[in-house]
Amino acid sequence: MIVEQIWTGNAYRNFNYLIVCPETGEALAVDPLDHQKCLARAKAHGWTVTQILNTHEHGDHTGGNKAMVAATGAQLLAHANAAGRIPGMDRGLGAGDVVKVGKTVELESLDTPGHTMSHVCMRSRTDTPALFCGDTLFNAGAGNCHNGGHPNELYETFRSQLSRLPDKTLIYPGHDYISNNLRFTLDREPDNARAESLLASVADQDPDAALVSTLALEKEINTFFRLTSPSVIARLREAFPDLPDEPDQKTVFLKLRELRNSW
Ligand SMILES: [Zn+2]
Ligand SMILES: [Zn+2]
Repeated sequence: MIVEQIWTGNAYRNFNYLIVCPETGEALAVDPLDHQKCLARAKAHGWTVTQILNTHEHGDHTGGNKAMVAATGAQLLAHANAAGRIPGMDRGLGAGDVVKVGKTVELESLDTPGHTMSHVCMRSRTDTPALFCGDTLFNAGAGNCHNGGHPNELYETFRSQLSRLPDKTLIYPGHDYISNNLRFTLDREPDNARAESLLASVADQDPDAALVSTLALEKEINTFFRLTSPSVIARLREAFPDLPDEPDQKTVFLKLRELRNSW
């Protein structure tokens, strides 16, 4: 499997992706907002875009569909429940559905509500798994729930699905927010040395050659995976004095999500 991460350079800091079968050159484009960049990249490598996958229905993920379909005739895939909100869908996905790309690539659909209620993440069935996680999981952060989502479901997605993936899973999010998110982690957990050193190394990184994290790294530097950290809880109590002595993980997640909304 070849993964091509495409930095759009737009104000929303979107990442688009091409997932390619190395044998046939067939490609699936993930959220190809910048359809021109995606098509140019495919052309330069001799790849053919045959499928488009939208992780969810927001315009900064679906905005390139029409032009991409017009240019390639690609099939459009998204969460089955997004059918009313994403025009032109050819295939609706549910949990466990498999998407094949060419001869060699298999992606499995995860039903991951929270950022919106019709959001899929795709995990590759490869020796080193890769997760294309849209706006559910970001490097060092979690998606917001302002536009059709719910924090309870986002927590449940993190707890029951994302945190249980193999630690070596490569993380490919829908946006480049890593520096700002690491600053939030450090605001919540000032003694997180790993987050501090990582911020120093990515603060001026070239988004065209962005760091690709793993789930293991996220568990060290992403505050939404650090729900039992004593310093996260102690700091949270400064903002929420009524927090119980040993708050459950869901409470910690929801309070962090709430603080991140106005941070
Ligand atoms: Zn979104
Ligand atoms: Zn987005």
